[in-house]
Amino acid sequence: MSETKKLTIEERLYANETRADHASHLAILDPSACPACEAKPCVSVCPARTYSWGEETQKIAIAHENCLECGACRAACPKAVISWKNPMGGCGICYRYG
Ligand code: SF4
Ligand code: SF4
Repeated sequence: MSETKKLTIEERLYANETRADHASHLAILDPSACPACEAKPCVSVCPARTYSWGEETQKIAIAHENCLECGACRAACPKAVISWKNPMGGCGICYRYG
């Protein structure tokens, strides 16, 4: 029986290919909701660190090119202010298996 090497999460992520869309497929529809959102789950649930909170700007910054298209941020936002669309055809994450 052959042994399969176990890959780390980082190794698995590096195996994928992303073609970033020029326009973001993610948006925050009402940024005024974010300062009062205590837990800011969009930041903590995203496995790709797409969202970051700026203390100075009091805004969430979005690095859309990091997105793995899992949908967790949209489900986790308690204010339902995240707009999530599919990236343009041919763009976005391309998962590699094996
Ligand atoms: S979870 Fe929603 S409301 Fe909270 S900081 Fe993120 S985008 Fe804003
Ligand atoms: S869809 Fe998933 S990977 Fe993309 S920004 Fe939301 S939580 Fe992060």
